[in-house]
Formats: sequence, C-alpha cells, structure tokens
Amino acid sequence: MSHGEPQGNAPSGKLVVRNIGLVLSGAIENPILDADTVVAEGGRITAIGRAKDVDTEGAATVIDANGATLAPGLIDSHVHPVAGDWTPRQSQLNWIDSSLHGGVTTMISAGEVHTPGRPKDVTGLKAMAIFAQRAFDAFRPSGVKVHAGAPVIEPGLVEDDFKEMAAAGVRWLGEVGLGAIKDGPSARQMVAWARKYGMNSTIHTGGPSIPGSGLIDKDIVLEADTDIVGHINGGHTALPDGQIRCICEGCKRGLELVHNGNERAALYTLRVAREMGDLNRIILGTDGPAGSGVQPLGILRMVSLLSSLGEVPAEVAFCFATGNTARLRALDCGLIEVGRAADFVLMDKAQHSAGKDLLESVQLGDLPGVGMTIIDGLVRSHRSRNTPPATRLPQIV
Ligand SMILES: [Zn+2]
Repeated sequence: MSHGEPQGNAPSGKLVVRNIGLVLSGAIENPILDADTVVAEGGRITAIGRAKDVDTEGAATVIDANGATLAPGLIDSHVHPVAGDWTPRQSQLNWIDSSLHGGVTTMISAGEVHTPGRPKDVTGLKAMAIFAQRAFDAFRPSGVKVHAGAPVIEPGLVEDDFKEMAAAGVRWLGEVGLGAIKDGPSARQMVAWARKYGMNSTIHTGGPSIPGSGLIDKDIVLEADTDIVGHINGGHTALPDGQIRCICEGCKRGLELVHNGNERAALYTLRVAREMGDLNRIILGTDGPAGSGVQPLGILRMVSLLSSLGEVPAEVAFCFATGNTARLRALDCGLIEVGRAADFVLMDKAQHSAGKDLLESVQLGDLPGVGMTIIDGLVRSHRSRNTPPATRLPQIV
C-alpha cells in the first residue's frame, strides 16, 4: 500500500480467508479456535469455522492463508499521534504505516501532547481534542484506525466541558498527569465527569517524562481511578515494585504495559497479575513516538518479551494486544467473533526460528513474520517490510 493515502473506509464486499493453519481468537478464556476459514462481509466477521461448514460462495476476495496464523489485528493502546502520518517527536514520516507492517491495525491516543505549541487553556485544549478526533476519523493513514482526540486535563475544566467534548465525538481522555492536574482529588473529579459522558481514560504512571508530566505515584493512580493504569511499568521510569503491587491489588482497572517502559517492571506486573488470576487486565502499548524513537514492531516485541521471559503461552500473550484491550477500551475489533470488525493480521513463524511453529517461536523469544494485514475486510498490506520474513505467506487467489 502506498504511504499516507486516505484509504477508503467503505465497507468491503464478501471476503473469505481459507486454509488458515491456526486461528487465534484474542479471547483469553479461549485463545485458540477450531477453525481454518473466516468470512467477512461489509467489513464485519460473518462466519468462523471449518471450510466444509461455512458458506464461502460469492466472495469478492479470496485469500489462501497457506497455513499461516490469523489473529485479530493488533491494538496499540498507547500512542501519541499529532497530524496524519507525521510525528515531530523524532521528525519522522509514515510511522503509522510502519506500525501496520508490525501487525497494528488500531491505535489509541493517550494525548496529542507532541503537537508543537499545544494549547493548555480550556478553550484551546477542547478545540484541539475535537480537531484531532475529526482529522484522524477522516484520514486513516494506510487504513489504520487511529482513535485520537484525547484531551489532557488542565485546571479550569468543568463538568459541562466534558459534556460538550463528548457530544462532539471525543471519547478518550489523554494521560492524566501530562497537564497541570497532578493531584488525586482534582483528577478523580475530572475522570468521573469524563466517565459520566462515556469517555475512557488513562493516566501517566511513574516518574516524569519530557512532555510535562510529574511523578504520579500509587496514591494518585488509585485515587484518580482511570479506566486504564497507563504504563504501569513506567514511561520510562517505573514505580517501586511495592507500589506496582498496591495498584494491581487496589483496583480492577486495566494494567497497561508499554514498550517504552521498564521491562523488568513489566515482567513484575505480569507476575502479580497472574498470581491474582487477573491476566485479563493486561493490555499493551508502545507509548511511541517517544525519546527512544518509534517502534513499528513494539507490540510484537512486547508479546514476545512477555511470552518468553514472563512464561505466558504465546496464544495468551496475543490476547494482551487484542481482546483484552478491545474489552477494556470498548472497541468493536480485537476478537475473532461474528459481528466484530474484520481486522486481521496473518503471520507465521520467522524463517529459521528454532520454534517448531508460530506459538513456540514466540515463546522462544522470536518475532513472527507478518504476511498480510486486513482492516474492515480490505487487504491493507502484504509481506511486512519490517518483521523477519515469514515461513509461509498468504496470497490473494
Ligand atoms: Zn506517559
């Protein structure tokens, strides 16, 4: 696909993906489906099963997966977009297209905080949130769904401001703590207003980062009560282990692990969540673009890190980047389920990986090779230019 083209959002005709070697559902309670065929129509999944049992007649597009694995398109729960497929953070173009080549089909903004001269007054921040929501809704870089328009709360916001933004289509709250609101009680009040009007929220957990955050410790995180504990493994500086445990045990909110964070703290959080029987709360982000660059393979690298060093089955680790996020963020993608968006990534074990199949290769710490991405039932990219080459590649018949 060419870079940055405003790919059509029009529903596709009937799509059949057949000869799938393994279907990963994204649902942590049942991560592997007994199926080799997935059918979509109008951009939605209509059937999942064995070829002999599903209606594959009249397809506009048939894809032979050639034994590769199909999973829900990956979701990056934490990005900082600015405008189109450009970021000023490292002066890069096409970082979103590059992430598509890492299997990411949906991104959620944690605030458009890298916008040069970003307004911090109430009128300005509301206008910027509505602008970002509109712009990324109308222009999807390479077809990727970028959920943007995530205001960062500042002093002076009142309940009516949240009502007004929500009515205008703003459905996210950027990282609490990146603005001048850094105390528990004020954050809690504004997060509650946002929730009342249907907005999903996140918070900057840990030590300060360049865009203006302060230290946000366990007390502020628990008091603010955002839907997601944003980068609980630090962005980049993590809280002490004792505080991470307090947060895990002190709430039932989403626990977000990011690539641009402390990897040891990510593995610690994973262990605590597993002890608690709460792996359904783990979700993944990159927190890119950032000081350490943009990470087109960041979500795949987190899946591989957590599976290999965190000793989680690979099929479960993929749920952290798909179904868990979809459920905690109220998205219509992320699960291979009838009625969900037909957003897929097709991948296989990398050539010459020591693992015998995709799942074992990831558990051994390798990255999979991405062979194709599909969004709303439309093929958006073919063999990845970023992952190691896949052993088997899907083909349009
Ligand atoms: Zn942050």
